[in-house]
Amino acid sequence: MENADEEFKLLSGLEGSFFVKNTMTLKERYAKALSWWEETNPNADTELVFHNNFELLIAVMLSAQCTDARVNQVTPFLFKAYPDATALANADLNDVLRIISSISYPNAKAEHICATSKILIDKYGGEVPSEYEDLLSLPGVGRKTANVMRICAFGIPAMPVDTHVFRVANRIGLTKTTTPEATEKELLRNIPQEKMGKAHHWILLHGRYICTAMRPQCEKCGLTDCCKYYEKQAIKRK
Ligand code: SF4
Repeated sequence: MENADEEFKLLSGLEGSFFVKNTMTLKERYAKALSWWEETNPNADTELVFHNNFELLIAVMLSAQCTDARVNQVTPFLFKAYPDATALANADLNDVLRIISSISYPNAKAEHICATSKILIDKYGGEVPSEYEDLLSLPGVGRKTANVMRICAFGIPAMPVDTHVFRVANRIGLTKTTTPEATEKELLRNIPQEKMGKAHHWILLHGRYICTAMRPQCEKCGLTDCCKYYEKQAIKRK
C-alpha cells in the first residue's frame, strides 16, 4: 500500500469506480441528493447515545474503527463509573481498560480518553472546547472527531469525512476527490450551511446502510438517476 490515501480509497470501496460522463450539473446533482435525503430521512442524527458534550466526545473517540452499536453497549457502564471529565481524568487506567475492552484498540483509546479528560480539566474547566485547533490538540482527536464535535455539539458548519462519506460522495459524483480532506472541502463548498449538519448524517447513514462498500444496494436507492457510479455500472451491463 503506497500511502494512507490509497489505503483509505481501498477500504472505502471506491477503488475502480471512477467516472463516466453524466449530463447532470453538479448543482443539480447536489439538489437531487439533498432533497431525496431530506424527504426520506428528515430526522437523521448520530446513532451514538450521549447526554452532554463530554459524553459525545468520549463516544466519538471510542467509535473510531468500531461500530456505534458496540460503543453504545459500553458507554453506559463507562459513564456510570466516570460521569464527567474529573472522574475520568482521575481513573485507574486498568479499570477503564476493563470497561472498554470489547471496543477496538482498547489500550490506546483508554489512554487517550483519560489523557484528554485531564486536559479538559487543566485547560478548559472540564468543558469540551469548540475551537477546531483546541479540539485537534486533544490526544486521540483527529480531524474527523474534531469536525463531529464542531457540528454535532456546537452547530458549527463542518463536514466530518469517514470512509462512508468519502465513498458515497465520490460514487454519486458530489465530489471527485482522492483524500478525505479534499472531500471535506468540496462538500463544505457545495452544501448550504443550514443543511450541513443533516447532510453529514445523510451521507454517512447512506453509506452505512444502502451504499455499502462491497455491494451497494442500488435497488433500494432513490439516487440512481443522479449517481455516476450507478450510471457506470448500467453502461457496463449493456
Ligand atoms: S445508486 Fe447505488 S451506487 Fe449510487 S448512491 Fe445509490 S446505492 Fe450508491
